[in-house]
Amino acid sequence: MAKRKRKSATEAQALTHGPVLLRWSQHVPSTDVQDPLGLALRGSGRLATLLMFCVTSITPRARYFSFIPWCVYDWQRREKGRSPAVGLRDAIITREKALVLGSVAHHDGKACVGGALVGSDALIAWFHKSQSEAELKKLPFAKYPAVGAYINSLVNLGFFLETAGAADSDDEEDAVPVAFDDLELSPLGTRLAEAYDEVVGQLTAVRELADPRARVSMRSLREFGKRGGFCELASPASRDRSVLRDIFFSRPGTGDKSHRVRKESLLLILELSRQLSVLDVRVGDSAFSSAVYFDQVVTEAGTTVDILWPPALADIKSRWRMFYFHHYMSVALEGMFAWMVAQASAQGLAGVSIDELIATLDEAAANRFASESCGGPASRWFGRSTPAMFFAMQSGGGTELNALTSRALDKELRASHKCAEDQLESILRLKEHSESQTGLAASLLLLGVTLARYTQWDEGPYGRWLAQAARDPYVDLVPPVLTRALSRRLDNWWTQPWNEIGRFVLSRYVVQQHQSMSYEKTAAGDRCLLQVEGSRIIASGSYDRIGMGNPRLRSALRILSDLALLRETTDGATRLTGDGTRLLDDELSKLADQ
Ligand SMILES: [Zn+2]
Repeated sequence: MAKRKRKSATEAQALTHGPVLLRWSQHVPSTDVQDPLGLALRGSGRLATLLMFCVTSITPRARYFSFIPWCVYDWQRREKGRSPAVGLRDAIITREKALVLGSVAHHDGKACVGGALVGSDALIAWFHKSQSEAELKKLPFAKYPAVGAYINSLVNLGFFLETAGAADSDDEEDAVPVAFDDLELSPLGTRLAEAYDEVVGQLTAVRELADPRARVSMRSLREFGKRGGFCELASPASRDRSVLRDIFFSRPGTGDKSHRVRKESLLLILELSRQLSVLDVRVGDSAFSSAVYFDQVVTEAGTTVDILWPPALADIKSRWRMFYFHHYMSVALEGMFAWMVAQASAQGLAGVSIDELIATLDEAAANRFASESCGGPASRWFGRSTPAMFFAMQSGGGTELNALTSRALDKELRASHKCAEDQLESILRLKEHSESQTGLAASLLLLGVTLARYTQWDEGPYGRWLAQAARDPYVDLVPPVLTRALSRRLDNWWTQPWNEIGRFVLSRYVVQQHQSMSYEKTAAGDRCLLQVEGSRIIASGSYDRIGMGNPRLRSALRILSDLALLRETTDGATRLTGDGTRLLDDELSKLADQ
């Protein structure tokens, strides 16, 4: 596969270690800077690909997975080889337009509930012109039709025979153009297409849209939307629904490891929804992360609920826990980045030095924050204290950070403890974080608690699984890489002052990392928000998008609802449906038997 070529670590190193003498001619708009430390692309993104293969952040609607194979099927039957020739890609887009417009008509001019379809906006505006007929080829549509987003996942799910352009990654970043006209449906793809065709194949709209002029009456489009639409998949009359369930849950019994891992991730979501059903809690980013990380969920009313995972899901739960170790480390480092950019920007061209930034750790505000909000000992010198001193109460007071200390801390700092990761994350996500005098202290504490809690896993199989996400340990930062680098650089970092930890992390993993990343993306480094001149760091603009979270989870939840395994109640709670309960029980007992 021809992946987009990226510079090697040595090249990046050569670039960042040389004298960096950039002069800005204009300020970089901060909206242009994404993933400033590479933590999403090179960490979360890779882990999410392993955990939720084929359910990407841009593929949230289940029915596209049967609709697009059907487009190929219908094109082959009605249009392929016709003169003048109609290419497959154009044929799919014509059908996409028909279905989206049909769905808008079916919903009386509104977008689908639970996620508008790609291209809805343009077609809603057109719909309100009240035409009786649509000339599909001339209709306005999305710049990027849905087929482009879904195609890699469809290839990876085995809907096509292996031909040119086969993808081995479902990551949107690695997307490779697929040679459309060579696509041939596999037996599985055909089964799915035929199931969808049973629902829509006889409709007038389907016949009319394949005509060279592709003029379709609104009346028949509305019928197409009513039968073949995305919300309508939930109905038992949708023949493709059971085929899709089998595929997402890898139930033809085939599928390699990545498909089985996805199945287990989906079961994990269903199981959590079952346990939270009784409490009327919505399953989203925060409940899911807390449940896999702490085995606890805290409700809006402040009640802590213990989650008891079935043994069959212990493995997948631990992998997701590793994902969130990376997540919290990312929030800490990006929190430092955002804070540093704000502090340096405020000083204009004079900039700031690392020493000045570190000095904030011993100021009154940081001391107050550390002792009051985190329950640490009242100290006049937070920066001069060490993690071992700071967490002495929670970790058993050991001067060595090992599995024992790590487990003690893990047991003590549960969900919503003032010094636990979820609470520190919400502080770092507050708007005032980057302006605040305690920004560095809060970010450092989050980093410290995350890495200390992670330590018990470091030597085991899950730590190794997490470590393999780093292909290039110079620029790919995941918790095992940082833990080792800290130990190498600072010996036993647990007993080193926060000042020293902060100094190393800021210079190596914030400033230098950001510079490496901006050169990776553009040779000119013009996505760089920080400029280093001697000991001064100069910045302009701001950065406020801390931590990418878990965008694939949102797609998975949508897909499970589309498949009628989950439903959201009117007051926003997530419930398992009867079918969801049966499927979950069935799959859990199969897993337990393995
Ligand atoms: Zn709909």
